[in-house]
Amino acid sequence: MSPVVYTIFGKENESPERLLQKRGLSPHTPFFSLHQIHSDKAIEIHPSSPPQKTLQGDALFSVVDLNLKNRHSFALAVKTADCVPVLIQAEDQNKMIGIAAIHSGWRGTVQEISKKTLEALLKKFSHTSELSLKAWVGPSIQACCYEVGEDVAQKIQALKGEHFLTPSTRSPKRSTSHFMLDVPGLVCDHLSQFGIAEIERSLVCTQCSKEGYASFRRDADRRGTNWSLIALQFDQEN
Ligand SMILES: [Zn+2]
Repeated sequence: MSPVVYTIFGKENESPERLLQKRGLSPHTPFFSLHQIHSDKAIEIHPSSPPQKTLQGDALFSVVDLNLKNRHSFALAVKTADCVPVLIQAEDQNKMIGIAAIHSGWRGTVQEISKKTLEALLKKFSHTSELSLKAWVGPSIQACCYEVGEDVAQKIQALKGEHFLTPSTRSPKRSTSHFMLDVPGLVCDHLSQFGIAEIERSLVCTQCSKEGYASFRRDADRRGTNWSLIALQFDQEN
């Protein structure tokens, strides 16, 4: 039987255990996370191995083997405080075959971490023409607040991402140009270029929303963490 997938986007200082519990899952569900380094590194997680929190990388993915006898529920988790959390599920002929969780700041986005994670995941199994991918893009800093300088803007332009930059009007007297950058928009563009037709994007801005999200731009080192999890729950009978 195919497992049930849960996607959870937490606010500041909500622990993974609390988020799992809020969604009706056991707070003891093992969750896997990485030591995030703003890279393009996607790590494959084998849920039967114990979680290793010292692994470095910015995306986790796991292949779901429905033929295994002992299947345990588990979750993949990333943490953000303005960067973009992306959760992905892959189904083939309506059966869950893989999941991924991605931390995509501007650096990871420029390095196309979402595309690299999907390539790594899809390489792991032979799928049919009935492959169906779905992505959830969680709360992050939006173009209303995310001002960047020319150095970052040039890297985005090199990716043909001009569409996601608008000139900043915040301080017109500055000698260099500044831009407002829509990182989640660019992430969604990469996901749809990859062929994902179903993308659910949050328009909540972690910096200016009053909903209690952690924001590095707003709070710097006083910031907390927003956890995002994709959890698989197998039927207890199986
Ligand atoms: Zn904002």
